[in-house]
Parts: sequence; C-alpha cells; structure tokens
Amino acid sequence: MPFAFDTTYARLPDRLWARVDPTPVPSPRILAFNEELAAVLGLAPDELAAVELVEILAGNRIPAGSEPIALAYAGHQFGNFVPQLGDGRAILLGEVVGGDGRRYDVQLKGPGRTPFSRGGDGRAAIGPVLREFVMSEAMVALGVPTTRALAAVATGASVLRDQPLPGAVLTRVAASHLRIGTLQFLAARADVEGLRGLVEYALARHYPTVDRSEGAALALLDAVVGRQAELVASWLGVGFVHGVMNTDNTSISGETIDYGPCAFLDAYDPRRSFSSIDHHGRYAFANQPRIAQWNLARLAETLIPLVEDGDSRAIEILTRRIETWGSRFDDAYMVVMRRKLGFTAVRPGDEGLLAELLAAMAANRADYTLTFRRLAEVAAGGSTEAWLAGFADSSAAREWIPRWRARLAEEDGAGQPGGGEATAARMRAVNPAFIPRNHQIEAMIAAATAGDLGPLQRLRRVLARPYDDQPAEADLAVPPGDEQWGYRTFCGT
Ligand code: AMP
Ligand code: MG
Repeated sequence: MPFAFDTTYARLPDRLWARVDPTPVPSPRILAFNEELAAVLGLAPDELAAVELVEILAGNRIPAGSEPIALAYAGHQFGNFVPQLGDGRAILLGEVVGGDGRRYDVQLKGPGRTPFSRGGDGRAAIGPVLREFVMSEAMVALGVPTTRALAAVATGASVLRDQPLPGAVLTRVAASHLRIGTLQFLAARADVEGLRGLVEYALARHYPTVDRSEGAALALLDAVVGRQAELVASWLGVGFVHGVMNTDNTSISGETIDYGPCAFLDAYDPRRSFSSIDHHGRYAFANQPRIAQWNLARLAETLIPLVEDGDSRAIEILTRRIETWGSRFDDAYMVVMRRKLGFTAVRPGDEGLLAELLAAMAANRADYTLTFRRLAEVAAGGSTEAWLAGFADSSAAREWIPRWRARLAEEDGAGQPGGGEATAARMRAVNPAFIPRNHQIEAMIAAATAGDLGPLQRLRRVLARPYDDQPAEADLAVPPGDEQWGYRTFCGT
C-alpha cells in the first residue's frame, strides 16, 4: 500500500466536502518526482518505480485506503465575497502521518471536474504544474513555510486554454488545506455549531499547545495572526509576490498556498505586482502585510458568534486582536531584515538604515536578491565598487555603506580577526544566491512543453541549495535583461 491514509477531514460535517473520484487520463508519465518528500510520507523506494504509483499520481487508480474528496470553501477574491468556491480542480486523496510525526494532506491538482468546478474543466496545464513544483520546492529550500510538491505527471491529454496545451497533474502536499475561506463557508451559512467544530479541528491539527484560557476562537485567531506575520515577513525577505492573496488562498496553518500568479522580484520595486488580473496593485509586493491583516480581519469576523458577550462586545475584542498585527508583523519583518543586513543585536536606528537602503535600491532598480547577497562580500572585505555597480546611480548607496559599517561595528566580535568573514557567513546563510528567476521558470516551462526536461532538473537541483554559491550554475543567478520588465503572470492552471 503506497500511502497509509488516515483522513480526519472526512469526519467533519459533510457540507464541508464532497466525495468525488479523479477522472482517468490516457497515458500518464512522470515529469518530476520528489524523492525526499516521498521518504517523509513513507513511500518505500521499491514503490517509487512502480507503474501503480504513476497511475495513482495521475488519478487513474484510487489507492487503497483513500476515499477521495473535494473540499468546500468560500472566500474574498480581490475584496469581493464569494460564498461558494471549493476545490474545482483539486481532489484530496487523504491524510498521511509522515515519518516526522506530522500530518499531511496529499492532494491531486488538475485531476478532473468536481462538484465545485462550475464552468472549469478541473484540469491543469503542464506549465502551471511545473511552475508550482519548482517554486514551492524552492521556497522550502529558502526556508519559507509552504505547501510542497510530491510529483508532476503528464496526462497525455491536452487541455484547452488560449490554445491546446499538454495536461498535467500535480500532487500537492500540505499541512492541511484549511483556509480562512473554509471558516467563511460555514459563517456564510450561519452554521455556528459547524464553526465551533472547525475551530477545534484547526487548533488540534495546527496549534495543539496554544493557550486557550480566553477561549478556542481567540486562541486560534492569535495563533493564525502570529503565523501569518512570520509568513509574510519571510516572503518580503526573499522578494516573493504571492499575487492572489484572497482569503481562500490564506492557509490556517501559515503555509504559502496557491502558486498561480506568484513571482519573485528581480529589480526592487515595492509597488511591483505581476498578476495580469491585479489591475490596481492590490497584491503588490509591499502591500502584502496590509492585505494579510485585511484577510485576518475576515477570519476574525467568522469568529464573532464564538466569542461570548454578544456581538458588539465580541467585535470589540476581535478588533483589538487584529490591531496587534501592526506590531507583530513589524517585529517579524525586522527579525528577517536585520539578519539580511548582518545584524544580530537590535538597535533603534535599524529600521531607518534599512529604509534608506531600500529607497536607494528602488530608485536605482537594484536587483533585490543580488544586492543583499553581494553585501555579504562587502562585509567580508570585498570591493564596495562591485556592489555599487548594481545601482543605476550609486551615489545614495555609496553614502549608505559607511553608516552600515558603523552599525556592524557595534556587533559583538566585529573588530576581532575574522569578524568580517563571520558576518559574511551569517549573511550568506540568509541572503540567497539563487531564487526561481521568472525568466528561468518560463524557459524551463517552454523546454518541458517541447519535451526537454533538462532545465527542469537543473532548476530543481540548483534551487535545492539556494544559499550556496555553486559557481558552475552562475548563469541562473543573473537577473533578466530589460525585456523582462513587463513580466506578467496568470492565475489559470
Ligand atoms: P484560484 O484563483 O486558483 O484560487 O482559484 C479560484 C477558484 O477557481 C477555485 O475554487 C478553483 O478550484 C477554481 N478553478 C480555477 N481553475 C479551475 C479549472 N480549470 N477548473 C475548475 N475550477 C477551477
Ligand atoms: Mg486558490
């Protein structure tokens, strides 16, 4: 038996899910397989090669112990509430407790229609599937909480988008697929008992040790606020733009979920958004903290009937919790950014120093990733000129360097022999050399669509060690040329 399923979600009220089998495909073929994650999930090596496993990952065969379900949820999309969304192109095979003791959802994405598909075909094209595979596994290696990718399987059938494209199925692995939108689904139906049960379920599954002295609902809200603060701070640290931070794409566990239109910044621009449908920059890079708070306020609203003392008192209590976001996010963000600058101690001027650097980067289209990575070489005693070459006009950055050096000198051990190298090592461990560059992802998809999996394998290999220099792969660290300035992403998978 490939998976030892133990699916708790199906014990929740049946309005939260629908029993549905994947639709078989003609000729499944593995495009990418994650052996490391397979081992965590308890897939034995001799099963990896098995035809049976490919059939399972394509949706052609229901594995023993699986009762596949699609999950119901609602959500605010670009600020508008949609009471009924749900897995329109995803089916949960079941839950598995991994060798690490953690519980994982194993879900097929693109396995055919479900009761929630509405007009959609329930399918996915090879491009978005490989994009999610590479991007989500890159996030793992970068240290960002995220859903993961176990496998990508070509179906042998085509899907119709702007043009016919080869179809594929992704096997996504997540701590769970509970979203803010899942609670909104029950709240929109005034199902208070269902909500109470779902809050208990979420706490038991993701936050079993939190303090519940003020009740389950507040305990959950506080825990989710904390995880989202850390998540969004880590996105900002690596230059990640999620692109579609709707409440149905905000996970209760605090993982990055939904890799549809996401992208990484090349040149630093806080207002940058990539998604073709994000016309007003609602989900732009620097807007992400504010949007996360907005989403958490929607979570808080679902909890009103669970907080005692009547609605107005409940709203007051919940509002106060949501107002903690500002300081909690700022703290989480500065933890991330101080490390990027090589600081371990906390100093009052750090925010200002960071803001000056970011302003110089934004004004001069400095590459977000390389600016921080190369700053480590300056700390190690390398040439400042090489670093300044990353700025169109380097004058502001030139003035910044002595202030940064003075601040570094306040660190313990800064003046000791080897202090510069120690700082550089610390900085290299948090400032990646490699991110999934948008132009490389597009080149990988074009190659794979034409049958060449070489670039896919290379990206996977290099992005598994983003903090190592890997000189032989240096071309993958290079930002794109000006032709990529208008880079756009699309939701449809
Ligand atoms: P997303 O923008 O990925 O968060 O998706 C929003 C909703 O649209 C979800 O309920 C999806 O399941 C649904 N959806 C997106 N694409 C398809 C498709 N090709 N077939 C069916 N449902 C889809
Ligand atoms: Mg989604």
